[in-house]
Amino acid sequence: MEMRQSDRKMLIEACIKLFAKELKIDKNDFTLIVFSSKDIVQVEGANGMASPITDKLYTMVLSSRIDCEKLIEVIAHEMVHIKQFAKGQLKRIGRQTFWMGKRYVRSKVNYYDHPWEHDAWSKEKFLSAKIFKILSKENEKFERSQRKS
Ligand SMILES: [Zn+2]
Repeated sequence: MEMRQSDRKMLIEACIKLFAKELKIDKNDFTLIVFSSKDIVQVEGANGMASPITDKLYTMVLSSRIDCEKLIEVIAHEMVHIKQFAKGQLKRIGRQTFWMGKRYVRSKVNYYDHPWEHDAWSKEKFLSAKIFKILSKENEKFERSQRKS
């Protein structure tokens, strides 16, 4: 599905708001800056990236080359990482990564074995399903209104 730039921005904002609430970080004190990039580094095939700049400032980079459906899933995945930063579960200090207080040498552990990724994968489907449900309801409403007129 092709989307207008402004619709895309609105969708991103709506997803972040809903996911923050679902992940119970909507009351947490942090700032999230979101970028779209067509040149996002394809780290292990990812279409998104979340990074902590400080304890309370995080960035999220989203690929501008993905469609609406994929975008929702990517935001869901990255928001789980934002939750991990906000709750102090995942910390990056210099080149070191700490998960639940335990130090991980990222290069020594396979990407697919990172526990913070398991957390993200296990929650991204459930989160994105919430948005898909809202969208399909809106779509039904729209189609019904079209039939009436
Ligand atoms: Zn991830």
